[in-house]
Amino acid sequence: MIPIDFSYWRPTSAEEAVALYQRLAADRQEPAYCAGGTEIVTRARLGQLAPGAVIDLKAIPEMCRVACEGGRWHFGAAVPLAQLVDDEPWPLLARIAERVADHTSRAHITLGGNLAGAIQYREAALPFWLADAEITVAGPHGRHTAPFAQRFGGALSLDPGELVLDLSIPESATRFPSYAQKATRLDYVDYPLVTVAAVQSPGGHLRVAWSGLLPEPFRSDALDAALSAAGTPAARVARALGELPSTLVEDLHGTADYRRFVCEQILSDAIADLEGT
Ligand SMILES: Cc1cc2nc3c(=O)[nH]c(=O)nc-3n(C[C@H](O)[C@H](O)[C@H](O)COP(=O)(O)OP(=O)(O)OC[C@H]3O[C@@H](n4cnc5c(N)ncnc54)[C@H](O)[C@@H]3O)c2cc1C
Repeated sequence: MIPIDFSYWRPTSAEEAVALYQRLAADRQEPAYCAGGTEIVTRARLGQLAPGAVIDLKAIPEMCRVACEGGRWHFGAAVPLAQLVDDEPWPLLARIAERVADHTSRAHITLGGNLAGAIQYREAALPFWLADAEITVAGPHGRHTAPFAQRFGGALSLDPGELVLDLSIPESATRFPSYAQKATRLDYVDYPLVTVAAVQSPGGHLRVAWSGLLPEPFRSDALDAALSAAGTPAARVARALGELPSTLVEDLHGTADYRRFVCEQILSDAIADLEGT
């Protein structure tokens, strides 16, 4: 049971959703967009959140579609992660998404919810960081499409009332050789000790994105350059590890030293997998 009263709205277009948000906010009803609802319901039950109005995004058709158009794959923000795993339009995204939560939760958790939510792991963001992705956001001043990295630096930068509609990547990016690994402490289904997504671009350059190492997802051009430079795999991994921030997360999942050790193993595996060494 959710121990609060709220009004429920189900707009059928992004513009209607944004206008509703503005009106409800002006009316001091503290509205919240809701996609899969898993985080909103959990936090409301815990008393951490008390929206006066919930705006359900699941009846907005463009937010619920996955399609390849004009040379780009489009991923609607209200698409559940389970659909991205089952349909597998982008193998790297499918492999990352299939390790987020358990199967039942993945049927509800959406791409946009994973990126915009308060739970900091945001693992579904990692592939988009590596693929020259774009993000389209709707707000009171209309729609804006921008490079994903401009809006996402570990957390999404959204003004109040802004709505993520869609993420897109060049069709060719779905075919880059890729590698995904999630290390957890005990159970297969858990928050990450370390999650890595990696791609090898056509020039042979390796790019890596991480979750679990810092309080929010992380990537670094300097680390990618060290990993991609000439040298033996062991030397490249050592140089890449030198580019990790000096302070890694210490929590119940593992110490900073253990995380560093796991990173070393994963980077060695990634090089072997992507370069066949
Ligand atoms: C059991 C469980 C296990 C989990 N395990 C993992 C894990 O292993 N790895 C991981 O990365 N995450 C994990 N999570 C976190 C999960 O991905 C987030 O909580 C996510 O927010 C849930 O998505 P949702 O669609 O249900 O979000 P909702 O509950 O609908 O919304 C969450 C927040 O995002 C906002 N929001 C949703 N969609 C949009 C949009 N399109 N535009 C703007 N704002 C939006 C909402 O307003 C709200 O503030 C787990 C969550 C659960 C419940």
